[in-house]
Amino acid sequence: MTTPLEVGAGKKAFDWVKNGATYLFMLAKRVATLEERVTALENALKTMPPEACPFCGERTMRLKEQSSLLGNQGSQWTEEDWACEKCGKIYRKRISLKTT
Ligand SMILES: [Zn+2]
Repeated sequence: MTTPLEVGAGKKAFDWVKNGATYLFMLAKRVATLEERVTALENALKTMPPEACPFCGERTMRLKEQSSLLGNQGSQWTEEDWACEKCGKIYRKRISLKTT
């Protein structure tokens, strides 16, 4: 026969184990979430990080095309078309040829 005191101790021990298991479960879940986030970062950095789009702000700008040299000798430039994979807009950058 068990006394009420023993039942209380048993319940306490059971609660202690249950809380410990709940804690471990939460910890495992948090580690899994962190692992997922690290994997996402690793995947994002596999290629060179894209430039930020001046229109929508997403980091999805990729160089689409680069023109050959334009203009007259001494003041030449090239034009680069940057396309955003998110909003689809094209941003044309003019880059002057450095003459030193
Ligand atoms: Zn954009």
